[in-house]
Amino acid sequence: MNELYEVLKYYVYYKYCMRFVGRKGLEKRQLKRIEKHLQYVSEHSKIYRGIKKLNDCPVIDKAFMMKHFSELNTVGIKGEEAEAFAVRAERKRDFVPKLKNVTVGLSSGTSGQRGIFLVSDQERMRWAGYVLAKFLPDGIWKSCSIAFFMRADSNLYQSVGKGRIRFYFFDIYQDMGEHWERLESVNPQVLVGQPSILLAIAREKVRIYPKMVISVAEVLEKQDERRLAEAFGVNVIHQAYQCTEGFLASTCKYGTLHLNEDIVHIEREYLDEHRFVPVVTDFERKAQPIIRYRLNDILVEKKGLCKCKSPCRALEKIEGREDDVFYFQGRDGTERRVFPDFIRRCVLFAENGSVVSDYRVVQEENGAITVYGDLTENGTWQIKKELEKLAEDRDFILPEVYFEGYRCEPGKKMKRVERICLGRNRQG
Ligand SMILES: [Zn+2]
Repeated sequence: MNELYEVLKYYVYYKYCMRFVGRKGLEKRQLKRIEKHLQYVSEHSKIYRGIKKLNDCPVIDKAFMMKHFSELNTVGIKGEEAEAFAVRAERKRDFVPKLKNVTVGLSSGTSGQRGIFLVSDQERMRWAGYVLAKFLPDGIWKSCSIAFFMRADSNLYQSVGKGRIRFYFFDIYQDMGEHWERLESVNPQVLVGQPSILLAIAREKVRIYPKMVISVAEVLEKQDERRLAEAFGVNVIHQAYQCTEGFLASTCKYGTLHLNEDIVHIEREYLDEHRFVPVVTDFERKAQPIIRYRLNDILVEKKGLCKCKSPCRALEKIEGREDDVFYFQGRDGTERRVFPDFIRRCVLFAENGSVVSDYRVVQEENGAITVYGDLTENGTWQIKKELEKLAEDRDFILPEVYFEGYRCEPGKKMKRVERICLGRNRQG
């Protein structure tokens, strides 16, 4: 199989064939794809044997996926076998070998539990074609250099580096200072990394002039987005909302984040009027089917049509993990949950109305709150006041609030708002 040809085929398909179908057309196409996919999966996966309708499939999560790994996948790979293989690759930092022709990877997993994912060659090339169709600024026919800051290299990402597309990998486990010189000499047209890394590049004033900046892996906060756009001189900071369970959303040229409903079907489990938890069905992933997989992310939907006229639903933002919702004791004895956004708002404008650029708010296991930030005395006082006001509005008892200088461990995922709970590693 000619890999380049395959990637190109998918590129053309996603770039040109998915246009102008409208919402109804999109939904119709989704239904057809799902039906066809379920037919395949019900014949090849033990868990889904005999299943015909999406609604008959259970809503699953990571724990279920890992527990039933061997019966769920369609390529006959056992859970222990896959895990041993992936761990070995990670230790040797050699990501080229495949197991039974399938790429095996470990997901970093912020929720404590390690995940294993399987991707076949065909899926890898489809993914590459899709990513290129979504993000290449000048199309596939022009040359392009892409700098990618990542936790670990993988087969998956190397597929993108074909032909005129030059791909440069920067390991975020190395000391960042070692990368700047190489990054300047590459001077990439596309820069990809998690917001904390992009912010570090901006802070260091590394001399690069990317046409496109893509934020991955962490929640991109609005104020960080503005800082990055200004630092790199671009109008839009693109987001690729991608996890091992799929490539779920990406930013269009007007800066709107759209669900990638041309490759995934997303059911919405509402938390309030606008917030929902996505339940994902990828209607193409065959090696390790992702069917009605409940992520623990909170997405906020955006009403109205985007100027790009995409039939794919728009998102206001990715608010954070469901795990990072803060819990307080209500004055009436019941539990109050407060979404990360409300916590953010208490901190953001504390310094006399100007934005606090670097901060983190953590709810400790015992419920206390620690605010990390280089704040003035007045800033500290303001935040305390805002939190008290929030407690009053939502009728809960404000726990102890502590203040510390800003810190965030490099190389780890950065979260501005985080709740520490049992079984999860804390950062910072
Ligand atoms: Zn749009």
